[in-house]
Amino acid sequence: VLPRLSYRRLLFLRFAFVTDSVSTGGFTALPLAPALLDNLASLGYHAMTPIQAESLPGILAGRDLLAQAKTGSGKTAAFGLGVLSRIKMANSRPQALILCPTRELADQVAGELRRLARSMANLKVLTLCGGAPLVPQLNSLAHGAHVIVGTPGRIEEHLRKGSLDLADLTVLVLDEADRMLDMGFQASLESIVARTPKSRQTLMFSATYSEPVRLIAEGLLRDPLDVRVDASH
Ligand code: ADP
Ligand code: MG
Repeated sequence: VLPRLSYRRLLFLRFAFVTDSVSTGGFTALPLAPALLDNLASLGYHAMTPIQAESLPGILAGRDLLAQAKTGSGKTAAFGLGVLSRIKMANSRPQALILCPTRELADQVAGELRRLARSMANLKVLTLCGGAPLVPQLNSLAHGAHVIVGTPGRIEEHLRKGSLDLADLTVLVLDEADRMLDMGFQASLESIVARTPKSRQTLMFSATYSEPVRLIAEGLLRDPLDVRVDASH
């Protein structure tokens, strides 16, 4: 009886391991800096979520992305690892811009980015949202930041004032694009995009795939990887 039990147990363990590595897999197969991989392990990020597994290889290869995924699917690390991999620390001008619908979401994204970037000692992530006083934001911008996370209205305002310069931008992320459009940010989004380099990589995330989302994606993305992760994952 004993050998049979342990054999079954072994089979089960092998099945569990194989299933896990096929459907999601570890981060170690990705071309990420060793310090970033060590930090992921220390955060307890062992297996990729489905959205991460399906989008990260393309993101790290420089592809544009249109991803449909719900809240809680792990979108932040999907684009966050792409963003962090592209940052040149010696350049203190903004190289990545992440647009979010609300201040609360921008704060969450910035917090998660800082956790992911614990191995990048001097990385500066700055949040620029409406409803917060402008002067501290101007001071922070004057000191430089590698990554900007913000809401479209305030980002547009900084661009108009000349306090934010996106000439060195390499990655643009639209997080929860459908919500930004629902909130009436379309014109802001367009005016922001017009001030970013055409050579940028653009990653767009949306919980729904409506006609306005499709239209803005068509204008923004070049030959995008199309990833959809439904709730059953
Ligand atoms: P979304 O933006 O899709 O709503 P988040 O990026 O905020 O989701 O991630 C949801 C939660 O899952 C966060 O607490 C995050 O730290 C955690 N998380 C993300 N990816 C992983 C992973 N690969 N392993 C373990 N936890 C993860
Ligand atoms: Mg999110």
